[in-house]
Amino acid sequence: MKRTIALAAVAALAATAAIPALRAQGADPQKTVDAAYAKFRTLKEGKNADYIPALAKVDPNLFGIALVTADGKVITAGDVKTEVSIQSISKVFTMAQVIEEQGLDSVAKRIGVDATGARFNSIIAVEGVRTVVGTGAPEMNPLVNPGAISATSMVRGASADEVWKKIIGFHNDSAGRQLSVLQDVYKSESDTNQRNQAIGALMLAYGYIKDNWQQAVDLYTRQCSIGVNAKDLGVMAATLAFGGKNPVTGKQVMDASKVPGVLAVMATAGLYDDSGKWLYATGLPAKSGVGGGIIAVSPGKFGIAVVSPPLDDAGNSVRAQRAITEISNALGGNPYARAKAGS
Ligand code: GLN
Repeated sequence: MKRTIALAAVAALAATAAIPALRAQGADPQKTVDAAYAKFRTLKEGKNADYIPALAKVDPNLFGIALVTADGKVITAGDVKTEVSIQSISKVFTMAQVIEEQGLDSVAKRIGVDATGARFNSIIAVEGVRTVVGTGAPEMNPLVNPGAISATSMVRGASADEVWKKIIGFHNDSAGRQLSVLQDVYKSESDTNQRNQAIGALMLAYGYIKDNWQQAVDLYTRQCSIGVNAKDLGVMAATLAFGGKNPVTGKQVMDASKVPGVLAVMATAGLYDDSGKWLYATGLPAKSGVGGGIIAVSPGKFGIAVVSPPLDDAGNSVRAQRAITEISNALGGNPYARAKAGS
């Protein structure tokens, strides 16, 4: 009971603090979002991912922005309805689910919470832990494929169905609506995910996965194929921004005390080997997916997401990076920046 009251008090504080803080920076959130949309709408850099054939077919012009504040207000520009596959952004929520269920140490001890400095599907990164770093002690993280497939394998359940219900349930609660798998993407990725199968088998061989790597890879592929639009992703980001409580539905999705651990891994590895550059520019924990989405979290202030499929060489959406950086910095979203007087 006491804890519920404390959580409610924290949420109420965040609700009263967040909006004045945004305004005190002198920028109006809707105008800022609109301006970034107009500025980057015609930007043509980057290319859709095509190693999963279904992703190459997605309209590269799709562009939507959603910013969600403490009071559950959703501020949007562009197309926030068309769904893309969530891809690697799902890694955050499956990791969060394992942390919620088994504690912060579970992931840190089995997988690690360190940057790999390598691409998201690097096998050399797995080998490097053993041969360069030393013994094979956990020295990666749940936001690159080897760690993510391992995290999926850690979700408890007597059958694949039971595990899947928990994974999709956590995603639904974070987004505030019932999500579903984009079957064309799931099929396309299942037909072409031999590299992830190799990673799954390797992770079993090295003991990160305890058994049934095939089930872990299949469920991982399914979770990557969940359909989301920019609004869903914005609400999911906001759930993390406000202590694990979805600000639109009011549901406490995860224990607030565990959220900082999730955000720390996002800051370390959310944009793969470009995570340092991203943090340098924005200060925001974030996560990208090869479907073209990026979520970013300004703790206590807002969650933001952009969907735009063309990616840069590191596998991160070009327009999403530019738009989020511009909007967050205009609204004072960088947690490392000193707040202006009165904010
Ligand atoms: N499902 C994709 C893969 O495993 C996810 C990659 C990503 O979004 N970076 O390759």
